[in-house]
Amino acid sequence: MHQPRSWNVVCSSDPDHTFKAVVVVHNETSTGVASRISDLRRAMDAVDHPALLIVDAVSSLASIEFRQDEWQVDVTVTGSQKGLMLPPGLSFNAISEKALAANREARLPRNYWDWQDILTRNRNGFFPYTPATNMLLRAA
Ligand SMILES: *Cc1c(COP(=O)(O)O)cnc(C)c1O
Repeated sequence: MHQPRSWNVVCSSDPDHTFKAVVVVHNETSTGVASRISDLRRAMDAVDHPALLIVDAVSSLASIEFRQDEWQVDVTVTGSQKGLMLPPGLSFNAISEKALAANREARLPRNYWDWQDILTRNRNGFFPYTPATNMLLRAA
């Protein structure tokens, strides 16, 4: 694999830092090709690129090494049905403070990608929408 070279090309192709986010699939499920997220982070850091790093880890989380904090991933998107080998029905986002701040400041109208509803309701143990109750177990 020679991904570091291509990551460097991608990151240096935006010298004015206009990209708001770099979005990458960690494990391309049908081919099994894994992206080296740590190399991508290094390439972004090498040009001081401030973009958010967003990773689709649907088929990789719990199946291949993934280090959100160490690789400074801003948003990890995953679901219950593949890498975690659970029934379908749940999806998860792990979100950095930087991504939460970007979400609060963004002016693009949105609903589905707005985390504020779920964060507010989760503080009291609830969901803003109908959850997959068959997938949830509340510990006493
Ligand atoms: C399956 C898959 C998705 C989409 O998830 P579904 O909820 O099953 O449609 C996204 N990314 C990757 C890498 C996947 O393997």
